[in-house]
Amino acid sequence: MTDAAKTATPAAAQGALQAVRGMNDILPDEAPLWLRLEDTARRVFEQYGYRFLRMPIVEPTPLFVRGIGEATDVVEKEMYTFEDKLSGESLTLRPEATAGIVRAAIQNNLTYERPQRVWTHGPMFRHERPQKGRYRQFHQLDVEALGFAGPEVDAEQIVLLARLWDALGLADSVTLKINSIGDPADRRAYREALTAYFLQHFDALDDDSKRRLSTNPLRILDSKNPEMQSLIEGAPRMLEQLGTEARAHFDGLRKWLDLAGLVYEIDTRLVRGLDYYNRSVFEWVTDRLGAQGTVAGGGRYDGLYESLGGKPTPACGFAAGMERLVLLLRETGKTAALAPLAYLVHQGDAAAALAWRLAETLRDAGYDTVLHAGGGSMKSQMKKADASGARFAFILAEDEARNRSVTVKWLREIGREQQTVPMDGLSAWLAERALSV
Ligand code: ATP
Ligand code: MG
Repeated sequence: MTDAAKTATPAAAQGALQAVRGMNDILPDEAPLWLRLEDTARRVFEQYGYRFLRMPIVEPTPLFVRGIGEATDVVEKEMYTFEDKLSGESLTLRPEATAGIVRAAIQNNLTYERPQRVWTHGPMFRHERPQKGRYRQFHQLDVEALGFAGPEVDAEQIVLLARLWDALGLADSVTLKINSIGDPADRRAYREALTAYFLQHFDALDDDSKRRLSTNPLRILDSKNPEMQSLIEGAPRMLEQLGTEARAHFDGLRKWLDLAGLVYEIDTRLVRGLDYYNRSVFEWVTDRLGAQGTVAGGGRYDGLYESLGGKPTPACGFAAGMERLVLLLRETGKTAALAPLAYLVHQGDAAAALAWRLAETLRDAGYDTVLHAGGGSMKSQMKKADASGARFAFILAEDEARNRSVTVKWLREIGREQQTVPMDGLSAWLAERALSV
């Protein structure tokens, strides 16, 4: 995305149209990492029985106002809201997926007969100041368990993420934080205690926090302002004021996580940016992406169904930021990109025809093969073969065409001699070397 911005400048100077600020192209050079992330996530989520669903990107604005909460950053200042020209209805580009999933579940009676594990992924939109790891169109992986009350499902989602980090090679780069923000009644009492505390220190609050004091004092705990940190450190802790049921739920969550052997930090200041959460909240964080260190966050939202007009239904879920995960894969050198197995170069009309057929035969056998197109000298074709990332160049020039053979060149292994293989035997030659798909 930064590369795109760089190369975009000359075109912009010539008056070419540009993408909206904070909304990025994902170009072919970068796409392999995205695809790996998507494929790996899908495999892991399916292992746990989560099923895919996809919702519209545009929803009625009240869904988010009621779902996410009026006094949140997202609803107050980050939503792309517009009036439908024909109906006059207020619509919003989704800033997150949970509210839409719950809307879809209610509307389609998804949890009428049994609970459901579901997941989705796709673009979200928030009007934030663009910076590394923070964009106006970004992408999330989103996992929700609808209709489950017990803490083992909260734990399951956390463990599933641990498995995802493992599969991506990121296990050493992230750590887990958990907390409980209690049930609404616990939170009312806590809110009062918190308000009293911050009122005592009113002059030390920044402007944002002064405003939050009356609308949503819990959000003060989430402030990223360094000057606020020691004050926040001294604030009363929700965890010490949990009611009996929320306490039991939290102890349960810890028990299941311990049973899975997961290491976690209890962060009593962890709240989350959206209002619908209760009880368990969690975040997976990294220290390798600067201020944008949260790669996944979620928790329980037992009240959301009702606030959207559905029957009371306990649920929990999380969202993971895909741009941040792709950045982290880069940062930690986990960039092994998907490359074709072979790049087929050819010279002359007879060789071109043979190469055309050979490429199809190789693909039939499951070997990813790029067939050179566009002519050019052997030298320039070999350069393209190298740049493709392929492991082999298969060369078909006039000699080879005459002999019905292929010259095989190893492009990645230094010191391996090139060799000649009969064209008909090339798939078998690859199979013998166990170079399967
Ligand atoms: P942050 O505190 O970083 O603003 P958040 O609490 O607003 O995050 P959530 O709404 O919980 O984030 O979204 C879940 C995840 O989606 C985040 O942890 C992050 O990885 C990603 N995310 C959220 N907003 C953005 C954004 N503007 N650009 C890129 N990724 C984002
Ligand atoms: Mg945010």
